[in-house]
Formats: sequence, C-alpha cells, structure tokens
Amino acid sequence: MRCKGLMRAGVVALITAGTLAACAKNPVTGRSQLMLVGEDQGVQMGAQAYQEIKSTEKVLPAGASFTKRVRAITERLIQANDLPNYEWEVNAFQNDEPNAFALPGGKVGVNTGMGKVAANDAQLAAVIGHEIAHAISHHGEERISQQMAVSTGLQLGSAALGLGGVGNSAQITELMGQAATLGIILPYSRTHESEADEIGLYYMARAGYDPREAVKLWENMSSMGGEKPPEFLSTHPADATRINDLNAEMPRALEYYRAAVGK
Ligand SMILES: [Zn+2]
Repeated sequence: MRCKGLMRAGVVALITAGTLAACAKNPVTGRSQLMLVGEDQGVQMGAQAYQEIKSTEKVLPAGASFTKRVRAITERLIQANDLPNYEWEVNAFQNDEPNAFALPGGKVGVNTGMGKVAANDAQLAAVIGHEIAHAISHHGEERISQQMAVSTGLQLGSAALGLGGVGNSAQITELMGQAATLGIILPYSRTHESEADEIGLYYMARAGYDPREAVKLWENMSSMGGEKPPEFLSTHPADATRINDLNAEMPRALEYYRAAVGK
C-alpha cells in the first residue's frame, strides 16, 4: 500500500500509532488514494452536511416535476451501474445558480438552474453521473484526508519545536472536524475531475443516455461565461482538455450506450 507523495511525517505517525486507516484504491479506476477517513465516517459527514444544506436552501417538494425528474434519472443511473447500497437521497433545490453535488454516502442535490443549462435528460444525467462518480470514488474523503495530512504534518512540526501538537484523540477529532469543513468548501483537484468525468460518462452510457450529450452539456456550460461565471463552472472549467478527454473516452462509452439501448 502506498499513497504516492502524500505520506507526510504526520500521517506516518498517526498510522504507526494505529489511530487511523491508511490508503485505499479507487473502487472504479484502481488509483491509490490517501484515505484517513473510514467509510462510516464519510457517510456520517455526508449526511450531516446534507442536513445543513437542506435546512438553509429551499428544497422543492417531492411532487415538483423537477424533483421527480432528477430522482428518476438518478435511480436509472444507480440501477444500471449496480451502485452501492447507500441510503440514497436526491433533492432538487430552488436556486438559479446552475449547480449540482453528491456527498459521501449518496446524498445528491441539483439546483433548478442546472435544469435550465441542461437541454435534456441525457445532459442532466451527465451532470448527476459526474457528481455521483465523485461520491462513489470517495473524492470528498480523499480531499479531507489530504487536508488532514497537511494539517497534522504542520502540527507535528510545531510539536517537535516544543510548541504543542496533536497529542490525543480529542485533538485529532477536532482536526477532522476542521478538515471536513474545508473538504466541503475546497474545489476538487484536476485528478478528481477527470476521474469523475470518465466514470460519469460510463455511468450515463450504461443507463442508456447518449454519452455525446455530456460534451454538449460542457459546451453549454462554457458558453455561459460572461461577467460572473457560474460557481459550477469555476470549480469545473469546461476547457479544451476536458472536452478532448471526454471525446477520447467516447468510443468505449458509445459501446456501453449501444449495448444498453439495444442498437
Ligand atoms: Zn466535479
């Protein structure tokens, strides 16, 4: 087991102390991931953050047509890809900002503004598939782990200088709380984004949504530029690399799609 370039002194110390788990492999791509957050902790953090979002944002009722639509699309993605048996929850939020997210443990949210950017169900499936891919890949937990590694490394550094540091589990728990907050705020890395693009493309294709619509979705997003680009675009730049990478995966995605729709 190795997490290339991420084994900072603090992390090694924590692992040696038997406090936390170490590395994991991405369940889909097999990439090595630094994972200091256990599966249950990830699910717990996701549920807590989702609760907070639901209490501050305007949730559309279950009977709203957009809610029914995003729930049906997500269900189709879950079934077709045999996704984990999470306590999946999907809600639509009344918000013009074109944004969407999926938290650890299968907590999904889509803003009504995203429904205006996505021209059809396949494009919405591209967005939801991408977000679900982040959750299945434990990208949030990995990001929190990386943050913890940095923080712990720094704290242990000051401990060595006699300035105090991580000495007990209460402090580690507090540190995890801070890292969790940061994990929700920080944008994903380029690695996370391309991984979610690739996995998301296959998810939608296997569910019978035309994967070529994913490219159109990103083109729609980038044409929205302007003075204040949407938040989703700032964390998900729809640049040439992104489009090229999606197109490179397209032949395989189209095979899945054709097998799914029987053409
Ligand atoms: Zn993303």
